[in-house]
Amino acid sequence: MNNTAKPAAIITGGSRGIGAATAIAFAENGYNVLINYQKNEAAAREVLEKCRLLGSDAHMFSADVSVFDEARALTDEAVSLFGAENISALVNNAGITRDTLMLRMSRESFDEVVNTNLGSTFNMCRTVSPIMFKNRGGSIINMSSAAALHGNAGQANYSASKAAVIGLTKSLAKELSGRGVTVNAVAPGFVETDMTAKLSDAVKEKAVEMISLGRFARPEEIASVVVFLASRDARYITGQVISVDGGLI
Ligand code: NAP
Repeated sequence: MNNTAKPAAIITGGSRGIGAATAIAFAENGYNVLINYQKNEAAAREVLEKCRLLGSDAHMFSADVSVFDEARALTDEAVSLFGAENISALVNNAGITRDTLMLRMSRESFDEVVNTNLGSTFNMCRTVSPIMFKNRGGSIINMSSAAALHGNAGQANYSASKAAVIGLTKSLAKELSGRGVTVNAVAPGFVETDMTAKLSDAVKEKAVEMISLGRFARPEEIASVVVFLASRDARYITGQVISVDGGLI
């Protein structure tokens, strides 16, 4: 089989958590994948191996996507691996938290979170959009958060960055709609990943009380929605924010 003719997906922050599950879900659904990571090469390699076992022509690429030139290098790598005409999905998933109350929040931690969560989304949309524009098709899925919609004490930097991702998503959806490119955001609630593993037991218990379904999501439960948004079945959905939060109140 000619793997290069398959659709290809770029997943930022694909080495762990939601991004790893998303890369695997794309591989399961017949995509070639480019797994981006920043530092954790071993974790990225594990995801790569799982994707290859599923028949995907999977590759990994280290880049700090909050830096424009590194994001461009990631996009260039995808083009040289798969061909521009096959770039079908971009998932802007890389993200960080630096939680603390506003009373103590440093300007540096604000900038770091905004640069990573929002800046990387801009960088990747800026470098991949022209390709999808030319292809007259493709899907961009940006990872937002329930924190963007509801706010969260200790997360002013994070909530602001994820709310801005929604604004970017809705504007870009309007810019690209004429070319058949869809742009949507997914807003997960609490998901079992390294990001939430650092929360205290008390915070986790309080969080579970607010979730109608009474538990955190598994990363695969977010990934399946991302893959759906990239599928033909979702071709009439654009500019939307899909909450996947177990009924968070
Ligand atoms: P995670 O387990 O902490 O994994 C973060 C991933 O992002 C890793 O693959 C990491 O790479 C990568 N990354 C971080 N900074 C990067 C950078 N500058 N350049 C490239 N890659 C970078 O996170 P997660 O919980 O899966 O979250 C994934 C996304 O979902 C994030 O945008 C997060 O804000 C969002 N989200 C998560 C939750 C939740 O409850 N977990 C809820 C709502 C939204 P390395 O492995 O190389 O470090």
